[in-house]
Amino acid sequence: MLDRLSLDVVDIILTSLPDFSTLWSTIQVSQHVHGVFKARPTSIMTAVAHSQLGPHLSEAIRIVRLKHAGADAQSPLLNDEGPETAVSDWRVARALETVATTVKAYEIMFSRRHKDRSRNASALSESESFRFQRALFHYWMYQARFGKRWRETDEADPIDDDGWDDDEPEPSNAERDGLIQQQKQYLANHISQVEQKRELAAFFMFLAETLAGFYRSVDHPHADSQRSMLLTLALDDVMNVIETRDIALFNQGTIVLYPQSLNNFVWDAMDQLNLEQKDVNWRAILDDVIGENDICSMCQEVRGLELYNETNWDMLRGVLSPSQLSYYLQGNLKRNAVETQALKQKLAKDDFNFSALMHAIFEESPNLGAWNGSKSAWLCTECLTGTFWPNNLHLWWLHRKQDDGIVIKEDCRYGYNCRTQTHSQSHAQKLNHLCDATRGDRA
Ligand SMILES: [Zn+2]
Ligand SMILES: [Zn+2]
Repeated sequence: MLDRLSLDVVDIILTSLPDFSTLWSTIQVSQHVHGVFKARPTSIMTAVAHSQLGPHLSEAIRIVRLKHAGADAQSPLLNDEGPETAVSDWRVARALETVATTVKAYEIMFSRRHKDRSRNASALSESESFRFQRALFHYWMYQARFGKRWRETDEADPIDDDGWDDDEPEPSNAERDGLIQQQKQYLANHISQVEQKRELAAFFMFLAETLAGFYRSVDHPHADSQRSMLLTLALDDVMNVIETRDIALFNQGTIVLYPQSLNNFVWDAMDQLNLEQKDVNWRAILDDVIGENDICSMCQEVRGLELYNETNWDMLRGVLSPSQLSYYLQGNLKRNAVETQALKQKLAKDDFNFSALMHAIFEESPNLGAWNGSKSAWLCTECLTGTFWPNNLHLWWLHRKQDDGIVIKEDCRYGYNCRTQTHSQSHAQKLNHLCDATRGDRA
């Protein structure tokens, strides 16, 4: 059909396409369309780049160029401050598409955590989205310029053997000091308005919180101390690690683990913004928050965005660690080593997710008690871990064992309240304790 349209009409169609993937597939459709594209590649690609990146196109292009220049200290790209918005190269187009996808993924994550927990898309208004993206790009420009060099100066100056001793003075050498001066100068030159400083500080917090949640979700043994480890990487690489949960990257030594000093990559910058504590909050980006006074359907306390139902159960992953699940088993089960070890192995083996857990509980005759809620009812983490899971996890775990074809032993009369299960391995192996007591609570 496009073949019969005039050159100008095809041009209008191509320039109004939403992204480069669509443009690429559209120009493969026919010789005629491809010919129109060949005649005007730059104007068409630039228009599509605008659709994807809007007002932040020039920053996105600079990030792509900096990343591909390897942020080489001698690179002329580092001194080139001029605005640039023309796109004429498919390699650049593909890299810009990655930037656009990454920005969108962070915005959705931010929106679900801080704007509207009940929507899986970004609920940010146009001006909130603009501020969020402006802060993101300020951060990304800073990272693109200094991240790799920061890691290199770290590698050049390894700290004490264990790398964890925070009583030791910070590693310091001339190269590092010089780099810190450049970072401070850069921030002073580029981010002078207080609104933009506040936005950037809010973005720092969001990123630090996101990474802390990521480490919890993969049960990393040094979750809290290492959360800044990823911060010197480009935002698309960070998102890739979060989405694939691929911590192999760390184990291969691709990223050197000096958390104290890497922390400073962001926190030194944060100090440089000279903000008072009261000015560092989400209000720098958000005008209002949807559901901030919502209450938990079980305890009736106001929990706002810290509430979960089937629309955001997946987000529990950053709040609670899967390996902690056995702590929430009923009665003395949490001290039954036979059951807790088996549960841990199961969680590690399967790609565990909280959504599947919750759906299964609700579908397998849940023990709801007086609460009697449904999948759509909002629960706070205190009620989940203090009441809902203790009432249901042992049944869920029993069902998973049955699914795996494990023969369930005879029930112990004292059920999950049995004390013998906590100190006698043979007793714990001989009887099933994933059940209610049929006799008093002593064994
Ligand atoms: Zn509650
Ligand atoms: Zn027992």
